[in-house]
Order: sequence, then structure tokens, then C-alpha cells
Amino acid sequence: MSIQTVNPTTNKMIQSFEEMTDSQVDEAVAQAASAYEAWKQTDYKQRADLLHKVAGLLREKKEMLAKMITLEMGKLLAHADGEIKLSAEIFDYYASNAESFLADKILHPTHGQALIRHAPIGVLLGVEPWNFPFYQVARFAAPNIMIGNTILVKHASNVPQCGIAIEELFKEAGAPAGLYSNLLITGKRASALVADKRIKGVSLTGSEAAGASMASEAGKHLKKSLLELGGSDAFIVLEDADMDKTVEWAVVGRINNNGQSCIASKRFIVVESVAAIFLEKFTAKFAQLKVGDPMDANTQLGPLSSEEAAAKIAAQVQKAVDGGATILLGGKRLKREGAFMEPTIITNMHPDNPVFYEELFGPVATFFRVKDEQAAIDLANDSPFGLGGSVFTQDIERGKRVADEIDSGMVFINHPTWTQADLPFGGTKGSGYGRELSELGIEEFVNKKLIRISELTDSF
Ligand code: NAP
Repeated sequence: MSIQTVNPTTNKMIQSFEEMTDSQVDEAVAQAASAYEAWKQTDYKQRADLLHKVAGLLREKKEMLAKMITLEMGKLLAHADGEIKLSAEIFDYYASNAESFLADKILHPTHGQALIRHAPIGVLLGVEPWNFPFYQVARFAAPNIMIGNTILVKHASNVPQCGIAIEELFKEAGAPAGLYSNLLITGKRASALVADKRIKGVSLTGSEAAGASMASEAGKHLKKSLLELGGSDAFIVLEDADMDKTVEWAVVGRINNNGQSCIASKRFIVVESVAAIFLEKFTAKFAQLKVGDPMDANTQLGPLSSEEAAAKIAAQVQKAVDGGATILLGGKRLKREGAFMEPTIITNMHPDNPVFYEELFGPVATFFRVKDEQAAIDLANDSPFGLGGSVFTQDIERGKRVADEIDSGMVFINHPTWTQADLPFGGTKGSGYGRELSELGIEEFVNKKLIRISELTDSF
């Protein structure tokens, strides 16, 4: 059985789940299509009331839901708590702002009158990853439900309880049947579902392989798609950076979510004159991290999400070393039960190293010493990914100039790449296309319908 809760802190299987049969999936799609016919007629107030209720339930059940996240994928409990709060903020944000975001846009054509009206497009399929099991769903579902679309979610196979819990929240909030449904199926079946005529758009957050599979199906069947994929964010440190604060953020940027965030700082690129002091302070802090049970409030670094994920990152480190890299700290699995990896720093990474262009999804930092600002920018851009990135400098104008040169969807000055409801999120290159969150996130699966008003006497 491939859909299971396995606690990564112990690697013990807790519960396994039956996959939905084809006819159960068909029924869920039919229900979503029929719910759409009614939901698209509702007004913004009705939609907003529902999402505010979902937000309220998230807050009310925060403790239980946070524990569920930590149990299923190993996130520190305090961070799981933060994820539930953020998810509630996203539901409230779209509930409060969608009507103004989607208001008619009056055009001023050369002749006559015209406007753009925002209409829903139908049933959407979202494929979501395990690393932020509530937040990822919130940023897909909230704007689209406000538009008037209906939602099918295929969640990652290692967080089934979270997937089911979100569907339950919608039911408890009074959502009509079919407005939001959780599909207990594997990834391959999600790709195959794209062909279904009743599904009008697809959104996937996950790996490049899964993204390519979904997007090629979407292309084949002429459906709109959105992809939020991996990243290998550069963390650039210039000579005028405030070193102590920069190092603090470097550690947070790398180990947040036990190192498994698409927007984690992964490549630390430091100009020559401050490289030694940065590395000394960064290594000292990394070495002191308290690794352990994510339910324990004193723990700073928990396990990877699964045994497979821990084995993968340990193998990548070994492959990097075989390709010429040097380990400065850690580099091995922890000698204890569970999916644990030592906090690790590697250096001497060059483009001919087989790991140079790979994403390292865990507590492994790659350190680069470069000649100057231009060399830092060039290295930052030498990546198949273009998700986020950050630059540390006390000269904000300089920071903005560097930001202009970085080929990615988001650049943060004096902070690792981060997220909040009212800031757009998304990447370029191999990190995908489209945007979630903020006003931009509500524009993806909407029909921007032109309405043109002509006098019968008008002629072209
Ligand atoms: P993954 O294997 O691609 O899984 C993500 C989701 O895709 C899961 O629900 C998975 O289902 C499904 N899936 C797998 N193969 C599929 C296929 N052929 N067709 C359709 N769906 C498929 O990703 P992961 O490695 O677990 O997750 C981490 C990746 O996600 C990292 O690269 C990370 O950077 C990226 N990520 C990106 C963002 C962003 O916003 N840009 C945010 C978070 C994570 P199963 O679980 O059933 O296999």
C-alpha cells in the first residue's frame, strides 16, 4: 500500500490508506463538476463566509493539526503551528480581498465602451507536496474558491491524514458537496486524470519530473497549468553585510523546515574579503544545532520527511564528494533511529561536479568563495532553477541593483526568501511558471472576459 503515514522520527508505519478506485475518483470529479454549476452562481459574500469559517476552524484546531503535520512529515512542532496560522491568514486574505481583486476592469478603447469581467473556469486539479501540507493547499484552494472554481486535491502520499483533515475542515465549515475534495490516489493517476474533460486547469507543486508529467498532459489536452517546482536559491553575502545578522539568517534560511523548503537558501556565495569570517561563524552555528525529536520544543533540526529522503540526500553528499567536493561539517546520517541527517556544509563545488546543478533538499549547505559582486551574480545565475534568492548588504540601492541581475522569480534583500499571503510567489526557468499568493495568485485560473458595448450604428 503506497499511501501511508510513516513517522520519520522513528520510521515506524502508523497507518495505511486504501487508494480510491477509478469509480470513486470518477464520482468525485462528477460531484466537483456539478458543484461548480451552483458555486459559480454564488456571490462573493457567500464564498468569503465559507473561507473565513475554514480559517476559524484552522485556528481552533491548531494544536491537533500541527501535531498531525509533525507526525507525518517531521516538521518542528512550533513551525507546524506557524504553518497552520499562515494557512488561516491565506484563507482570510482571499476572503477579504477577492471581490476587489476581481472587480470589473473598465477599459478605455479608442471607440466606445468595454470592460474585463472575471469569470471562473470550472473544476481544477491541484497536486500538492508534503513539505507544507496545509499552506500549499491554502494558497491553491483559497483564491480559486473565491473565483467560483471548484477544487480536487491530490495530496502527497506520505501526508494522507493532513489531506483528509483539510477536506473535513471544508465539510465542517459548511462547504457544499464537491466544492473541495481530497483524492487518495498516487501521482501517476493524477497525471492521467488531466485528460478528463470535466477538469479545466491543473496546478502542481513538487519536483521537476512530476511537473513535466502534469504539464505535458495539460499541453496535450489544451488545459491551463501552473507549476511551482524546485529551487536552489543563492544567498549572496557582500563585503558590507552586517555579518552577525547575516549568519543568523543563513542558518535559518538553510534549516527552516528541516532544510526541505523550495525557497531554502541552498548556495551560500560570499565575496572573498568576508568569506573566512562568514564561514567561521556559520560553521560554528551549524555545528551547535540541536538535532532531535521535532515534538520537543528544544529541538532546532528534526528528521527529513522520510527514510527515502534522508537516504537520497546522504547519497547526494557522497556523490558530490566523489566528484571533488570537500566536507567542512557533518556529511553523514545520524546514528539513531529515524530519517536524520547531520547538519552539513560542503565546498569546492564546481560545474563539473555531478551534484552542482542538483537541488539539495535537506540540511546541507554549499559554500562558495567568489572574487566580487559580479562573480557572485554569475554564480547565482548558473543554475537550472530560478525560484528565489537573497543578497545581504547594508547598501539597499546596491541590493536592488544585484536583485535586478538575478534571474529568479523572487529576490529578498537582507532576508532569506520567504512567504506571506500578500506577496506573490513563483519562479522562472526550471522552477516553474505562474504565481500564487497576493493579487497575482487569483489571476491564474480565471477567464478575463472582454465585454464590449457597441451602439448599433457603430461600424468597424
Ligand atoms: P514530488 O515527488 O514531485 O511530489 C509532489 C506531488 O506530486 C505529490 O503529490 C506526488 O504524489 C505528485 N507526483 C509525483 N509524481 C507525479 C506524476 N508523475 N504526475 C503527477 N503527480 C505526481 O515532489 P517531492 O520531491 O516530494 O517534493 C519536493 C519538491 O517540491 C522539491 O523539488 C521542492 O523544491 C518542490 N517544492 C516547490 C515549491 C514551490 O512553491 N515552488 C513548494 C514546495 C516544494 P505522490 O506523493 O503520490 O508521489
